[in-house]
Amino acid sequence: MMYVRPKKSLGQHFLHDRQIAERITQSIDDNTKSLLEIGAGTGVLTEFLLEKNIDFKAVEIDRESIAFLRKTFPDIKNKLIEGDFLQLNVRTIFDKPFSVIGNLPYNISSQIFFKILDEKNYITEMVCMIQKEVAERIAEKPGSKTYGILSVLIQAFYDVEYLFTVHENAFTPPPKVKSAVIRLTRNATQHLDCDEILFKKTVKATFNQRRKTIKNSLKLITGDKIIPENRFLTLRPERLSVSDFVELTNLVEKL
Ligand code: SAH
Repeated sequence: MMYVRPKKSLGQHFLHDRQIAERITQSIDDNTKSLLEIGAGTGVLTEFLLEKNIDFKAVEIDRESIAFLRKTFPDIKNKLIEGDFLQLNVRTIFDKPFSVIGNLPYNISSQIFFKILDEKNYITEMVCMIQKEVAERIAEKPGSKTYGILSVLIQAFYDVEYLFTVHENAFTPPPKVKSAVIRLTRNATQHLDCDEILFKKTVKATFNQRRKTIKNSLKLITGDKIIPENRFLTLRPERLSVSDFVELTNLVEKL
């Protein structure tokens, strides 16, 4: 029997609970026509995804996993992309918008989300397993201590649902943290009503000093310019919704 040695550097924790695997694959919208799996590993999700009657592709960076997948699932041959998802030009994979699924490598999950956001007009849906703490943060509403940069940036363009929690014993080797599955569904927002680059900068600058008030942390962006009095200045960033950040960005832009 072929076996893939789990590599920590690639965030490899293989899910061995097939019931959970099936539940994850069933969380993708029934109308999905094109689907990309990130990090197929030993194929616990892939096995179910190959049975779906859709245009399916999987990307995997690990050579040993690639060899394992080819051997175990002969049907995968034209569907497997050997490479780094972060370097992939996702627009060349399908000729239409698509969904993404995966038990993500936790060490690069934030980078994966930033890439999803960069490609938000091509990616309509994402079902993924990540560290529970990160899942909660992404799904969190304003006012909570864990609400942060990714919550705001993702919720600006995707509806977020926390689906379920997964115990560490469902993996080989078990990770040190609990896991959770979330679903992102692209919302109707095409563009924010502000400069989107400045929006990102504003969100990052304020949360990077999250114990400071908006007034103090914005000095990083605005320098000596005086921000006119407004209802956000004395608040901390965790209190601001997506639309509040849009409003704030427009105030900053006018300076
Ligand atoms: N889907 C499998 C594996 C999850 S572990 C399962 O559920 O058991 C995460 C997987 O992502 C590993 O197979 C790892 O090799 C792969 N991976 C890590 N970094 C990657 C990257 N940059 N691009 C593509 N795949 C990556």
